[in-house]
Amino acid sequence: MNSFGEAAWRGAVSLTFDDGTDNQLQYAFPPLTERGLTGTIYLHARDRAVVERKEDWMAVAASGHEIGNHSLAHICANNFSDRRGGLEDVSLDDIEADMLAAQKRLQPIAPEQESWTFAYPCACTSVGEGQNRQSYVPLVAKHFLAGRGWGEYGFGNTPEYTDLANVWGIRTDRMGAFEMIGLVEELTARNKWVVLIFHDISGDRITVARDDYLMLCDYLARKKEEILVAPMAHVARRVAEIRRAS
Ligand SMILES: [Zn+2]
Repeated sequence: MNSFGEAAWRGAVSLTFDDGTDNQLQYAFPPLTERGLTGTIYLHARDRAVVERKEDWMAVAASGHEIGNHSLAHICANNFSDRRGGLEDVSLDDIEADMLAAQKRLQPIAPEQESWTFAYPCACTSVGEGQNRQSYVPLVAKHFLAGRGWGEYGFGNTPEYTDLANVWGIRTDRMGAFEMIGLVEELTARNKWVVLIFHDISGDRITVARDDYLMLCDYLARKKEEILVAPMAHVARRVAEIRRAS
């Protein structure tokens, strides 16, 4: 038995998508469903594109994918917006209220879903600045099964030790298929949990090309017996259970 609970699995991969765009509905989830794979969509609960396509996201949830909380106001560090009012200027109470308000709106999209995970907007995990900076990871630990942040390029999560409230993700924006496959191949060979972060698929912002994405999906479908491909909550639950048992 290895860290993922099945002798056959050498590692795990969670495919995660941020923000809830139209091109994710069109290009990200149907190829996964067709191949019997599931992923996680982190919805930014107040975003117009998400609100307007609520039923489409409900259908995504109904076909086995995970809906995740990506906050209500999507507050990031001031450097992202070039103005004040970002994470440096809010309190822990503000951020807790925001994530709970988002949860209230997201719950009806996946009414059957038992466990929820959170993705830190812009991968920022603290509020305040300087000597008053405070981590909000403990709030994510309090309200969610797991939280997804960003990690150093080329590193996966070690199931035995990773902080489930701040699981490391690897940004795939602008990556080609061979680089994504190489990362998965190498890191799962070292028994890691690899969390890939996508924004657009075939979009016009930060994007991965559709061909590259499909090649990754085909590769993962072929490796299904060796690599556990599952949403964040599924892998987090498995990791937590195994840690408890040992
Ligand atoms: Zn985002």
